[in-house]
Amino acid sequence: MTQAARATPALEPGRRWRNWGRSVTAEPSHRAKPVSVDELIDVIAFARDAGLTVRPVGAGHSFTPIAATDGIQLDVSALDGVLAVDGTLVTLGAGTNLYQLPALLGPLGLALQNMGDIDRQTIAGATSTGTHGTGNAFGGLATRIRAATLLTAAGDVLRITPDENAELLPAVALGLGALGVLVDVTIECVPAFVLQAVERPEPIDTVLAEWTDRVDGADHFEFYVWPHTDTVLTKTNTRLPADAPLRPLPAFGRWFDDEFMANGVYRATLTLGRAIPAVVPPLNRLSVRLTGNREFTDTSPRVFTTNRTVRFREMEYALPLEHVPAAVERIRALIADRGWSISFPIEVRAAAADDLWLSTAHGRRTGYIAVHRWFREDPAPYFTGVEAIMREYDGRPHWGKMHTRTAEDLRPSYPRFDDFLAVRDRLDPERLFANPYLTRVLGS
Ligand SMILES: Cc1cc2nc3c(=O)[nH]c(=O)nc-3n(C[C@H](O)[C@H](O)[C@H](O)COP(=O)(O)OP(=O)(O)OC[C@H]3O[C@@H](n4cnc5c(N)ncnc54)[C@H](O)[C@@H]3O)c2cc1C
Repeated sequence: MTQAARATPALEPGRRWRNWGRSVTAEPSHRAKPVSVDELIDVIAFARDAGLTVRPVGAGHSFTPIAATDGIQLDVSALDGVLAVDGTLVTLGAGTNLYQLPALLGPLGLALQNMGDIDRQTIAGATSTGTHGTGNAFGGLATRIRAATLLTAAGDVLRITPDENAELLPAVALGLGALGVLVDVTIECVPAFVLQAVERPEPIDTVLAEWTDRVDGADHFEFYVWPHTDTVLTKTNTRLPADAPLRPLPAFGRWFDDEFMANGVYRATLTLGRAIPAVVPPLNRLSVRLTGNREFTDTSPRVFTTNRTVRFREMEYALPLEHVPAAVERIRALIADRGWSISFPIEVRAAAADDLWLSTAHGRRTGYIAVHRWFREDPAPYFTGVEAIMREYDGRPHWGKMHTRTAEDLRPSYPRFDDFLAVRDRLDPERLFANPYLTRVLGS
């Protein structure tokens, strides 16, 4: 390690890093875990002097190499917790994990407005890639950012609020980690609420025919298509006031469905299906019969999120809401035509249009279609085939999930793409925060 590195207590030699989905490995030259903004500033100064690039990393739950670096891997997990509260506006340290939030927001009587499937991510990591849940009236997590503090490549601590540098907010709130290091974000929360969850197996033809009505008619609607079956599992969540009576899943039922079936048994069936692909269709039919017919009412984070211990790789595309049924049918036909055995369900969700420049829901009501493969299987043929279909519907890939798109072919899908690049040029002209993934999707 160099003299300068030793003078910066937050820095240590890098070590091999892997993401959650095991789709990315990196060999950072250094690793830094600053415990204060001053230490963070020192790390950035060191990187500039040493000619190294910097990538902030959250929980490593992106499937793309968006957080990978051979320079300095910056772990901001020590910058966490609640920093300020002003009504429903809560300022969180960028490294706060979503699973910390029930304990932090609960005593304030607050909650996140919407959440995705899991709570392992950091708030900065989740918002920077456009993480979303489902719901006709709700945008992704980043749409709730009202202010942020960003450390720039020049070492400046930039406040971005409705009164200061406000023009940067639509870029910084969902910035792919390309504009600087988020130190904190101010999230507009909502009063705590509970969710009534209804999960049912239903015929796929009915659900596809009723897709937009079902999305419009529920607070949070989504469904899972089990390949090789004609049944989907629908999830319909209704928002209720915080004092509505809870009817949580009994501990055994929750363990059976969410741990034993979704993780334990599922891992065994994946192993079997990999060895003998012909068993996948009957196993999928069995999975549909054994899971997904239940009702319960619980606090919002407990309904929105589940525990995922079976590792997989994922590609997810955002497309105009009305194209979802046709696109799902095309994927099913593709699987049948190619004779693939696909164990993982296709997940289908929805979100409101928003105005963040690189949001996958920018300017249009959006449906999301996500495809998965177990991490021990090669996802390339399936994902390549699905991606070709998604392109035909002007699909936009999730920034944190696998895809092969480039800046050149993404630009036409994002009306504010060049505005984002102009902000990048202004805040990071020397590309201190670059990596090969950002070069691919944003240009050099
Ligand atoms: C099991 C699983 C379930 C998932 N479910 C969903 C889902 O339901 N909905 C959905 O939309 N996505 C989902 N995802 C994707 C996931 O939410 C995103 O990939 C998210 O970015 C991961 O957050 P992270 O904290 O792990 O960030 P990382 O993957 O570590 O980093 C993501 C990006 O954030 C940047 N970043 C991190 N911290 C900072 C900072 N302080 N300042 C600036 N930039 C920063 C990184 O540089 C990188 O560019 C899921 C992923 C997995 C593995």
